[in-house]
Amino acid sequence: MKSWLEISEERLAANFRALGRVAGDGIAVLAVVKADAYGHGATVCAPALVRAGAEWLGVTDAAEGAVIRAALDGAAGQVTIPKILVMSGMLEEDAATIVRHRLTPIVWTRQEAEWLAVEVRRQGAAPLDVHLEIDTGMARQGVVPGDELRSLLEWLAAQRELRLDGVMTHFASAEVADSPLTLRQRERFEQALGEVADAGLRTAWVHAGNSSTIDNSSACGGDCGSLAWLREVASRSGARAMVRAGLALYGYCLPVEGAKALAEPDLRPVMTWKARVIGVREVAAGDTVGYNAIFTATHPMRLALLPVGYADGLRRELSGSDAASGGWAMIGGRRAMIVGRVSMNLTIVDVTEISGVAVGDEAVLLGDGVTAADHARLAHTIAYEIVCGMRAEPRLVAAGVGSR
Ligand SMILES: *Cc1c(COP(=O)(O)O)cnc(C)c1O
Repeated sequence: MKSWLEISEERLAANFRALGRVAGDGIAVLAVVKADAYGHGATVCAPALVRAGAEWLGVTDAAEGAVIRAALDGAAGQVTIPKILVMSGMLEEDAATIVRHRLTPIVWTRQEAEWLAVEVRRQGAAPLDVHLEIDTGMARQGVVPGDELRSLLEWLAAQRELRLDGVMTHFASAEVADSPLTLRQRERFEQALGEVADAGLRTAWVHAGNSSTIDNSSACGGDCGSLAWLREVASRSGARAMVRAGLALYGYCLPVEGAKALAEPDLRPVMTWKARVIGVREVAAGDTVGYNAIFTATHPMRLALLPVGYADGLRRELSGSDAASGGWAMIGGRRAMIVGRVSMNLTIVDVTEISGVAVGDEAVLLGDGVTAADHARLAHTIAYEIVCGMRAEPRLVAAGVGSR
């Protein structure tokens, strides 16, 4: 095994509980496990989150939902059968999978709803719960409040095969404190909830927001901002409130200006990416290292070779042209700076100052001492893209991570 991901069940569960504490009574936290649980392995994370108490899981599409449903059916120690929300649209061919695996799709067009109703009839299945997405300002998914929404609601109200179980929206700028766009989105969502009630429809769930929405309300313990608003509009609709958390479950969050950032000790990274040293060599002052010789040894150095590179998710922007500018791995609890270009499947790190490094030793590429936020800063992106980009085998470990 060249490299692997250690996924801490303890930390995942603790992060889920920490988010639940901020969301507070009356707001459920949906655990987003899309994109293979943000690179952490959905089939290991979904059962762990259910054991931690998750009532809802969120996935991208029907295929992901079916894989997770199967993993949950085979998992031990579950107390509940979670509902699985398919969040990012569907095609006609997905309807059969959704109905067969009792997934809960988000719909926003009459076309999608018709595909599902036809499939419920064809399979002779019980009425299918659907959630309706309202476009309040993302212009990505969702039905626009007003005429478009009213005509869809009128049609839905006449269906026996589908049951409106949830109404939801998504914020475009949840990580911006007091964003005027979020305020406008909230107003449009309230209008939509009014139109749902006017159509004579009741919904069991009202949900909005993401990790940053929770973070943004964390300074006041969930009693201000979008969470307080969500609690109120859900209660006005006679529904339960829910917020959908992804990245924060895995221990990261975009910084929110002016808010008490959800961070350690509340949230801790769940993923530790490890590899073993596959070579050690000495170089002399003046020797160059790696492709294009962007690094030249300034003194006699000892280098360790790691069997991972950009094909595995170690971003090429972490290449080091001097002893301080690039990324690093942790070896024996100390920083080993990347020297030279990160190659496709190989990376060289400086272990001159770390005594006794030998072939077979473990190196931490992501985890305690080197976070996805560090990688994101060096690669000019966000932690989301870093963790999703991992290509190594996930293994669930019970306790903490980062230990040797
Ligand atoms: C991915 C996603 C989320 C979770 O977002 P995070 O920022 O990772 O918490 C919430 N809602 C929807 C609709 C999503 O697609």
